[in-house]
Amino acid sequence: MQRNLESSVIVAKFGGTSVADLPALQRCADIVQANPAIRVVVVSAAAGVTNRLVALSKGIAPESERMQVLTEIMDIQHSISKALSPSPDINAQLRDYLSRMAELSAYLSDVGIEASKQDELLALGERCSSMFLAELLRQRGLTARDFNACQVIRTDSHFGSAEARPTRIGMLAKEHLTPLLENYCVVTQGFIGADAADRVTTLGRGGSDLSAALFAEALRAQALQIWTDVDGIYTCDPRQVKSARPISEITFAEAAEMATFGAKILHPATLLPAQRAQVPVFIGCTREPEKAGTWIKNTTKQRPVCRALSVRRGQVLLTARSLNMLHARGFLAELFAILARHRISVDLITTSEVSVALTLDATGSHSSGNKLISQALLDDLAPLCDVEVEEGLALVAIIGHQLSNTPEVASRVFQMIAKKNIRMISQGASPNNLCVLVREDDATDILNTLHQGFLEN
Ligand code: ADP
Ligand code: ASP
Ligand code: MG
Repeated sequence: MQRNLESSVIVAKFGGTSVADLPALQRCADIVQANPAIRVVVVSAAAGVTNRLVALSKGIAPESERMQVLTEIMDIQHSISKALSPSPDINAQLRDYLSRMAELSAYLSDVGIEASKQDELLALGERCSSMFLAELLRQRGLTARDFNACQVIRTDSHFGSAEARPTRIGMLAKEHLTPLLENYCVVTQGFIGADAADRVTTLGRGGSDLSAALFAEALRAQALQIWTDVDGIYTCDPRQVKSARPISEITFAEAAEMATFGAKILHPATLLPAQRAQVPVFIGCTREPEKAGTWIKNTTKQRPVCRALSVRRGQVLLTARSLNMLHARGFLAELFAILARHRISVDLITTSEVSVALTLDATGSHSSGNKLISQALLDDLAPLCDVEVEEGLALVAIIGHQLSNTPEVASRVFQMIAKKNIRMISQGASPNNLCVLVREDDATDILNTLHQGFLEN
C-alpha cells in the first residue's frame, strides 16, 4: 500500500543548544539534509535567549540593566547573522524582530506589564531561530521556508502557559501546512502559538517539545525526533548522577512519568499528542546523531521493575487544615476548585481527618517563572482553611513497571535512604511510579544512592 505524503513526514525538533550559533545550526542542517523525510523542523530560541527575554518581559528597571540584557540578546542574534551572511531580506527581517524586541521591552518597563505583550516578546527568540535555519537550508540548496507557527498552533488565551487546541490545530495544519510539504522543508517555531483573537501566546518553559508533538500529531507523522544536547533519555539526569546511562527503548507511560517528575529532557505534556496519534518519538544528540538515542514507544522488549529516576526540585508542600469539621464533606472539592481557579496543578496528596497536604511546583512551567503561591491564592483559601506552606523540597520519583505490585521495592527504598527525612510518600496511584518528597538539599545524594541500588548491577 502506498503511504500518503502526510504519514511519511518526520517532524524534527532542535532545542536551544542545538541552535545556539552557526556551527550548531550547521549540525541541525546536516541532520535535516541527511533525511529527506524530515519535512517539518521545529526550533527553540538560541540558548540563553529565552531566559533573557523572560527577564525583559518582567519590565526590568533600571534602564541601564534593561539595555544590557537587550544588547546581550542582540549580540547572540547578530553573531549568528554575521556568520551566516544571509540575504538582505533576512537582515531586514532580523532588524524588524530586534526593533520590536526593543519596543516591547521598553513598553513593559515604562508603561506596565501586559501578559499578551510579554508573550509577543518571548516569541521573538524562536522567530529568529526559524528564520536563520530556513535560510541556512536554502543556502545548502534545499527548498526550505520559514513558517509562522501561529498559523497552526491554536491555543486558549492563558498567556505564559497557554493550552493547545488539538482539533483546531489539526484543521489548520491541513489547510496551511500540508500543502507546503510536497515542495518545501518547513522550518517553524516551537513554544509559540496564537489564541482565537490572533494574539501570540506561549506554551510555558520548555514548550518547544510540545509544539513539535502537536505538529507531529496534526500531520500524523511517521516519527517525531527530538534533537538535544544528550544522546537520549538516561536512567537519571546525567548532570546529577554521573553513572547514569542511556535507555534505548522506553514506553510512553514511563517517559511521561519521567517528564512529569522533572526530567527536563522532555516538556511534561509532550507525549500526550504523540501518544494520541501513535507517533513514535526518538530522542537523539545533535552533536552525535550517529549514537543510538532513545525510542519512546507503546511497548518495549524489556519491562524492568525500575527503569529510571527523576527529580523535580522547587517543590512546595501546602498543608490545609479545615477550620470547620462540619464543613469537611465538601472540603476537598472546594480546596481543589480554588486551586483550579488559580491554575495550580497538584502532584501528590495525602489526607488526615481534618487536613490535607499536597505538593505543587513553586513556579509551575509558566513562561514568566513567577511563584504559583500568590497572596491572592492565600486570600481565597483563608475563609476555608488554615494554610501552612513549606518550601525547599524535591520530589524524587522511581519509574518503572508494576512498582506497586513488587513487594520489595518500597522496603528497599526505605532501607537505602533510611537516614534521610521523607516528608511524604506516594505509591499505588500509578503502577509506573513511586515518589518520595524530600529536602531539596538531600535530593542529589538520594538520587545517587537509589541509582546505585536499583540501576547499577
Ligand atoms: P533542549 O534545549 O534541547 O530542549 P533541555 O535542556 O531542555 O534541552 O533538555 C536536555 C537536558 O535535560 C539535558 O542536558 C539533561 O541535563 C536534562 N535531563 C534531565 N533528566 C534527564 C534524563 N533522564 N536523561 C537525559 N537528560 C536529562
Ligand atoms: N525557548 C523556550 C524555553 O527556553 C522553549 C524551549 O526551548 O523549549 O523555555
Ligand atoms: Mg527543552
